[in-house]
Amino acid sequence: MLEGGCHCGRVRYRASGRAYNRSICHCSICRRTTGAPMVAWFSVAKADFVLVRGTLTSYQSSAIGRRGFCPICGTQVTFQDDRLAGEIDVTTASLDDPEAVPPEYHIFTSTKLDCVKLSDGLPLYEEQR
Ligand SMILES: [Zn+2]
Ligand SMILES: [Zn+2]
Repeated sequence: MLEGGCHCGRVRYRASGRAYNRSICHCSICRRTTGAPMVAWFSVAKADFVLVRGTLTSYQSSAIGRRGFCPICGTQVTFQDDRLAGEIDVTTASLDDPEAVPPEYHIFTSTKLDCVKLSDGLPLYEEQR
């Protein structure tokens, strides 16, 4: 069982089942919506993700996706791809123990910032895997 939440603590979640699609994303939308140079994500089945406290505010960040964030502190918690209704992406760094879900590869390296030098040996994908 994975547990996590936002910085201020008003939003808490639990994710059970398998954590897959464990990626670090370098796309410009992740970057701008978080203010960070890259964002780590994992996916779980939608049915395996439960908000146990608070509610997320939803932001339509592109034609196909919505991001959920804490309305108070702004921590981005989820990404919902409208084409994949059965799964939800969760920010790895919102976990209480991010080390429990290490990333497996990098995506959207075609838009990676030059200042980010990758040396972790993980596979690189220019766009989506
Ligand atoms: Zn919060
Ligand atoms: Zn991204």
